[in-house]
This record gives sequence, structure tokens and C-alpha cells, in this order.
Amino acid sequence: MMELKYNPKNGWEAGADADKQAAFPFAERYKAFLDRAKTEREAAREAIRLAEERGFVNIDAVKSLKKGDKVYADNKGKSVLLVVIGEDSTQGLNIVAAHIDAPRIDLKQNPLYEDLELAFFKTHYYGGIKKYQWTTIPLALHGVVVRGDGSSVEIVIGEDEGDPVFTITDLLPHLAQDQMKKNMSEAITGEGLNLLIGSKPNADEKDKVKGAVLTLISEKYGIVEEDFISAELEIVPSVKARDVGFDRSLIGAYGQDDRVCAYAALAGILEVESPNRTAVCVLADKEEVGSMGNTGMKSRFFEDTAARIIALQNSGYNDLLLRQTFAVSMCLSADVGAAVDPGYKEVSELLNAPKLGYGVMLTKYTGSRGKAGSNDASAEFVGRVRKLFNDNGIVWQIGELGKVDMGGGGTVAQYISNLNIDTVDCGVPLLSMHSPFEISSKLDIYMTFKAYGAFYLL
Ligand code: MN
Ligand code: MN
Repeated sequence: MMELKYNPKNGWEAGADADKQAAFPFAERYKAFLDRAKTEREAAREAIRLAEERGFVNIDAVKSLKKGDKVYADNKGKSVLLVVIGEDSTQGLNIVAAHIDAPRIDLKQNPLYEDLELAFFKTHYYGGIKKYQWTTIPLALHGVVVRGDGSSVEIVIGEDEGDPVFTITDLLPHLAQDQMKKNMSEAITGEGLNLLIGSKPNADEKDKVKGAVLTLISEKYGIVEEDFISAELEIVPSVKARDVGFDRSLIGAYGQDDRVCAYAALAGILEVESPNRTAVCVLADKEEVGSMGNTGMKSRFFEDTAARIIALQNSGYNDLLLRQTFAVSMCLSADVGAAVDPGYKEVSELLNAPKLGYGVMLTKYTGSRGKAGSNDASAEFVGRVRKLFNDNGIVWQIGELGKVDMGGGGTVAQYISNLNIDTVDCGVPLLSMHSPFEISSKLDIYMTFKAYGAFYLL
């Protein structure tokens, strides 16, 4: 018998004891994932490594598929699909779709310069950041450089204890009276996000510090200045994932949007064995800039891989079979939401805002200003997911992103539902989203893992 009044409960109080205990060791594995996966490439690689440990094989190596088979598809090292084959994939896919890119600061194509005998990299930020949050903190450089001869080199600097780090400077308060009068979006400009990378000159006649830095980089990585043009170098906070709070109930880390849902979706599919319906975990790139590009959710990669799965399992593949498969598929769009922040209650509407510790968040619609840009999930599908969670003892809550007309945001949900797939947003609420140190609740993360696991088997 359902209670007469809707009464959301704190999961630390209402959750099962076994779940509350399991949330802590699960969080340790999640933190280790975060520390190894600070870019989309690293997250894709780590997901594949963990999947191979659990018996997943590259779909390129497979001639046919049958129930229980586990495969992954690697899209250019930046996005991954993991699949456990069901009885007949054309009966519908159970999809959990997260993204593995995160807001960050990228190097420009021609980044290196010297000013007043200090060397810097010019940058162009990626995704929505509050620029002032990225100054005066230790930053690491991750990425790949493709050399003139076509060979490539991976670079990670600023993560090991003995590594140097980099930083973006800010003005001392004593001389900041003009800066402090500016509003926060203008006080630090995009062109002002220049990364300090050196100060020691060599004997060159001009650009002595730039020359010295270039010499060091060249000796260590075998690259020359023009090679930066064919590089993807990303600047991320060098801080490792940490427990937050005396009770260690929270996690603070960079990149939890959306690697928290990505990890829960990944950990969930790694435990799926012989499902009735085919289970699919999507780890997409480029969500933070609109899901475009050939590794984003709008890419044909998802459809192409679904077609491959059907063709490898069924002899009589045709396009209609793919379309009909989508029509009976369903998806959790696995992305984070904005937990109500006691310091900023005024942007949330408390009847509908998610709270830390209240479990996995089910968001019927996202969008902004009149649900613009939202996949608005149907009552029927929300009802089905809600019943699934209740039947499986999952602590869950609803979660609207802020007050109406306050702002808003979107996820990959709309691009999946455009394929005529029932889709609803479902993920982990965060504090300080898009900052260098985002905050999540271990209880919510574990409930999200349980929720995705139950959905794969629905
Ligand atoms: Mn996100
Ligand atoms: Mn985001």
C-alpha cells in the first residue's frame, strides 16, 4: 500500500543497512576510476580495461553474437559502447547513457608564448565553467600530440607526487580594486586564462624563456612547436578524488559531471550476465559542448553500433529491423543534476529540487525557460521506472534543475529519444557542478549504481 502523502526520505535513514555499508567500498572503486580518468580518452581507456577484465571483447573481433555475449565498441578512443547480448536484440535495448567528457581548459593550437620573461600556454576553455574558479589552483596537463611524421605521444604532467604542476595566476587583493568592481563573469576573461609554464631563460637572443621551455618539451617528448597544432592537450585540476566531511559520506573531485554516472553505468553493466533484453552502456564524448562531432551522442556511432549488434545476432538484417528495435528500446539518460545548496536556496524550488543523500535522481524533464530543449519523458515511462526502483528497494528522488525561468540545462536525453526510444534523465545530484571540485554523496552514487543495474535487467 502506497503512503497517502509523497514523502521523500534521506537515504542514510531510509536505505537498507546492506546498501549503506556497500556504498563505502563502492566509493573507493569510484574514486580510483576518477583518478585514472581525468579526460574522455582516459575514461574510455579505463572503461575498456575494466570491461576486458570482466570478459568483454572488442566487437571488431566478433563474427556473431548470442545471448550472454559481452562486447564493447571503441569509437576513436573517446567514446565507448558496452553491450551484453540478450535473447534477441530486436526485442529492444535497455540503454544507460552517460558522458565521459567534463568541463576543462584546452590549449589553443598555437599556445606557447613569453611575456615579461615568463612562459605561458594560451587556452580556450571547454564547456561551461566559472572562470574565476580555475585560477590559483594546481593544474595538470593531459593529452596527446601528433607529430609531423604522424607518430603520436601521450602526455600527463602534474598528477604524480614528483611532477611539477601548472597554474593560472590572479591579481593580489591589494591591487585588485578595479577588478573587484567587475561582475564575476567579466573579472576573469577567457583570454585571461593563460597557463604559467616556466620562468628560467636560456641563452637565446629573444624569447629566452619560451625557447628554454620548448627545448625541455622537445627533449622529453620529441615534439616541436608546430606539433601543438595537431594536439589535444587538456588542463584539469591536479587534485585527486577525496572523501569530504568528518563522516566521509561525500566525495569531492574534479569531473564527477558526468563520470559519476558513467562509472555507475559501467560498474552496473560489468555485473550483467545473460539478460533477457540486450543491455547497452553508452559512454559518450562532447556532451558539455552540445553532443556534436563524431564522438558525441549526435554521432551515427550509436545507431551504427546498434545495427552491428542486430546484424551479428540476426541473419536477416535490414534497416526497418533497426528502426523497430529503437521503437521498443528504453533509456536512462545518466547525467548529474543540481542538488539544492543551503547557501543558494533561492535558485531552487524546494518541493522539486534534489537533495544530497536522498538517492538516485529521476528527472522527467530538463531544458530551460518553458522546458525548451527537453525530452519530456512520458508518464507511462516514468511510472515504469519508478515502479522498478520501488520494487528493488532503491532510494530515489525527483530532481528539477533550478526554479522555472532561473536557467536550466540539457543532457543527451533528447538525442536518444529522437530515435523514438523512451528516455528519462536519471543520475546523481551534485553540489558545485562544473567546478574543479564537485561534491557528490556516496549514498546517492551507490543507489544510482543499483538503479542502473536493475534497469539493464528490466
Ligand atoms: Mn553532464
Ligand atoms: Mn555538465
